[in-house]
Amino acid sequence: MKPIYADCAAAVPPFDEALSAFEQASLAAWQNPSSIHGGGQTAAHLLQRARADIAAHFGCEAREIVLTSCGTESICLAVRGLTERKKGHIVTTAMEHKAVTEAVLSAVRGGCTATYLKPDPSGQISAEDVKNAIRPDTVLIAVMAASNETGVIQPVAQIGQIARHYGIPFFSDGVQIPSETDPALFVRHCDMMSFSGHKFGAVRGTGILYIKSTLRPLVSPQLTGGGQEAGLRSGTENVAGACSVAAALEQCRLHCNRVRPLRDLFEERMVQAVDGVEIIGQNAPRLPHISLLSFDGISGEGLVSLLDLHGVAASASSACNAAKGTALASLTAMGRSEEDARRAVRFSFSHRNTEEEMHRLVRVTAECVQKLRALHIN
Ligand code: PLP
Repeated sequence: MKPIYADCAAAVPPFDEALSAFEQASLAAWQNPSSIHGGGQTAAHLLQRARADIAAHFGCEAREIVLTSCGTESICLAVRGLTERKKGHIVTTAMEHKAVTEAVLSAVRGGCTATYLKPDPSGQISAEDVKNAIRPDTVLIAVMAASNETGVIQPVAQIGQIARHYGIPFFSDGVQIPSETDPALFVRHCDMMSFSGHKFGAVRGTGILYIKSTLRPLVSPQLTGGGQEAGLRSGTENVAGACSVAAALEQCRLHCNRVRPLRDLFEERMVQAVDGVEIIGQNAPRLPHISLLSFDGISGEGLVSLLDLHGVAASASSACNAAKGTALASLTAMGRSEEDARRAVRFSFSHRNTEEEMHRLVRVTAECVQKLRALHIN
């Protein structure tokens, strides 16, 4: 059977256009963009063009784009970078990606304090809770734009408004946003937002931090040296990577309406085919490419393993937690028990998936659930 890849929240297959932009730039402009000779200047020109294209997709200025190596690096630059310069209180959530949680923890070890807000049972953080958590010494609000586990979109516009009102920098982790949703709709409400190239079809090893120009002086670089990226991220720039990011964002823009109908079809058929299945976050605004399902009476990990034997790639945990067997953090934060959280499986899609795959995926998943239930493996 032809394999089905349904783990796009972990990594999206690279677009052909992104690979070819990477290859072309690697061949034509492999020189160091800081060099003043012709080759270096060609590389610098390509980098400048890629940065301008990325900024256009995010609806910001080119100087507000910092190119990094991944989402985690962008997050560390934002959260650690800001709290190293300004100690105080951080308002964050109990369902952030580990990269944010660890950066906040490191700030706490360095003398900051933190309030961890919990989402409501649908997976959404309340903007009112954010407002009520603000203290006179609050130096940062860090609330993700959308959950990588449930796909639930957070009230970024309202939180941005509150942050502006109180004059507190607002960082939002936007790593799951761009593949199927217009990132500019989110960026405009934040002071800093992190992205990861491999989550939206660019080459691996690329990341972006959007940072409002007024905030730059408040952020301490995490990589120091040659002063690239206007002093915020030293190290020779990945010109070809930046070209790949720009090309991938353009492809996302062209393909962004294709996934929601596939995800909706999958969910509609899934609840018809299997008893005791719940679509988590169904009534909240959700990213169009993520479907988190909970199956009565089975273990999510068991189902993922059995699906794998049938050529289906899905996930029972975010990729960084999978190896440790940790239950989905957002589900426990939503008030569900560990046991409940362990019944969930995340299916996530991209432009590459097809309608035929959705039908096959439902059939195979229904068969696997039936087998596991018959064996009473939970
Ligand atoms: N934030 C979210 C919401 C993610 O889903 C991920 C990766 O899964 C990250 C941050 C980390 O990104 P990266 O793997 O590029 O470091």
